[in-house]
Amino acid sequence: MHNETLSLESTPDGQSGFRPQISADALRHAEGTLVDKYGRRITYVRLSITDRCDFRCTYCMAEEMSFLPRDQVLSLEECLRVARVFVGLGVNKLRITGGEPLVRRDAMWLIERLGALPGLDNLVLTTNGSQLDRYARPLREAGVRRINISLDTLKADRFKAITRIGDLGKVLRGIDAARAAGFSRTKLNAVMMRGINDDEFTDLVQFAVDNELDISFIEEMPLGEIHGRSTTYISSEETRDRLAGRFELLPSTESSGGPARYWRIPGSASRIGFISPHSHNFCDSCNRVRITARGELYPCLGQNDAVNLMQVLRSGADDAALRQAVVDSMGIKPWGHDFTQQMDAPQVVRFMSMTGG
Ligand code: SAM
Ligand code: SF4
Repeated sequence: MHNETLSLESTPDGQSGFRPQISADALRHAEGTLVDKYGRRITYVRLSITDRCDFRCTYCMAEEMSFLPRDQVLSLEECLRVARVFVGLGVNKLRITGGEPLVRRDAMWLIERLGALPGLDNLVLTTNGSQLDRYARPLREAGVRRINISLDTLKADRFKAITRIGDLGKVLRGIDAARAAGFSRTKLNAVMMRGINDDEFTDLVQFAVDNELDISFIEEMPLGEIHGRSTTYISSEETRDRLAGRFELLPSTESSGGPARYWRIPGSASRIGFISPHSHNFCDSCNRVRITARGELYPCLGQNDAVNLMQVLRSGADDAALRQAVVDSMGIKPWGHDFTQQMDAPQVVRFMSMTGG
């Protein structure tokens, strides 16, 4: 059943006025699928399999990070069990993320099993690319459909400064390895930062075009205690205007099922996307939830309400109880987030590496 077929009623929603809410009747018909109280069907889960990373990107982590002890992170078996329950509820897309998912020991054990899960049509991965030269082929063989690779700069010294540790050459080899392994429509993710990488946006687009990659520019989000963001924030509009000076950009109606809005360059297959949590709120079509490495189910990236799935899993609950906890979480999915441009005050205290971008 799809959203459009659900009947909606207007009811007041706390902070933000009147929102369409799903009627009790429609809710009964939606049984067996995940539908929130605003009638949005949830078909996409982003699963963070570790909070650890081999980089320390300045916008994502503090220099000194303390990571979770092993027993406070979902085991790979627990991740698989949670994924099965979501797929049983109609979720057909799962993104593996982190932290850096490919630094989790035995990550491939999980990915191979997820790739073989009936009903999970679209298994995808977000990575910093540092391990891809080794893992691109096994990922492809395991059934991963598409990879997103973070790349904010093409300059080695700048790459080191932004990631504090990373080696650009290794990531570029990882991008080549993804293509050699047969991945197509690989997407680069670049966080836009004024005074840090904004002189390279056209070069990044040209790199994407030359290498038959898509690219999305991401507005920096106020997650975690990191200072100085208000000086580096750039809107998607500004970047698009700058790119328009060099490329002809045609608006595209295509969607990858995510919050990005796409543009095309005539004569190129590359899509240029903009993810704009500040300047364009994308909540009304939200179809996703996030699960952190410690098993918290966050119905919204920008809000702090969560359901503790680890507690449910470790209480000895059977799959029916786990499924019920997931269904019940729909009750706390808010209409949306309200990131403002007051970037220095973190409105959400989690780091992105915890929630899994
Ligand atoms: N380590 C992997 C990577 O870097 O692609 C996966 C996890 S990372 C948290 C996922 C995405 O979140 C990356 O594309 C990263 O650039 C983005 N990200 C991290 N912190 C961010 C922030 N404060 N604002 C916007 N995007 C952020
Ligand atoms: Fe690691 Fe990705 Fe965060 Fe960078 S953005 S520190 S690569 S988790």
